[in-house]
Amino acid sequence: VPELPDVEILRRYLDSTALHQEIESVQADADSVLKGISSQGLGKKLSGDSFQGTRRHGKFLFISLEKDSDWLVLHFGMTGSLIYYKLAEKEPEYQLVSFNFTNGYHLAYVMTRKFGEVRIIPDVFGFIEERKMGPDVYSQGFTFEEFKKCLAKRHGMVKPTLMNQSIMAGIGNVYADEILFQAGIYPETKVNQLNQAELHEIYQQIKNVLQTAIDHQADPNSYPDSFLSPLRGDQDANCPRCDGKLEHIKVSGRSTYYCSNCQKKPG
Ligand SMILES: [Zn+2]
Repeated sequence: VPELPDVEILRRYLDSTALHQEIESVQADADSVLKGISSQGLGKKLSGDSFQGTRRHGKFLFISLEKDSDWLVLHFGMTGSLIYYKLAEKEPEYQLVSFNFTNGYHLAYVMTRKFGEVRIIPDVFGFIEERKMGPDVYSQGFTFEEFKKCLAKRHGMVKPTLMNQSIMAGIGNVYADEILFQAGIYPETKVNQLNQAELHEIYQQIKNVLQTAIDHQADPNSYPDSFLSPLRGDQDANCPRCDGKLEHIKVSGRSTYYCSNCQKKPG
């Protein structure tokens, strides 16, 4: 599932491949991912224009256009990705939308399960507000003070709170587990039971875990040995820190890995 680090990697990939090239046409094979615009409409909107730059908020990627003031929005659902390729090469599998450039290159929006989102919006701030998204946890502006403000008056369990995109944007299931493991916090701890030191540790691990993931191209297999994420799915895995057996439970319906020795239940 593409989470914030994956989308940040895709943003950088798009920046390094597909900017400032004239779009000749757009081909969209799956109307289900196009929101508020038809395949033809999207083609008409983008043809003759080019991608100018990118922004990311949570798991949304925003692409500004060189001529038009509107933005293209991409969300990668459960399985989405981007592939920049040349005409002579084979069209990627599961290509749902293709942005075709006059230089013979294509940017493919690919996805095996069609839960994505492609749309045109007039402005990014309005979109973030309309979707009621909290601040992006990887942004410079997301300070410890901001983090505490987000959690003020919250009483729920810490894991689903971190994952609630309207409280703060960008943390999904895998990284919520990793952040809480690194911080040594039991995932069902109530937010209002966390003391200042624990809050600060979680905050620092949000920054540390996301930065580490991005530095490693969001590829769990290359994460440090101290990380939990590469062990997901292995029912017999041991804790990288204490070598005890990892626990596997559901928290708010989501698959959760933790170590009962390193992440003690409070009280
Ligand atoms: Zn442990």
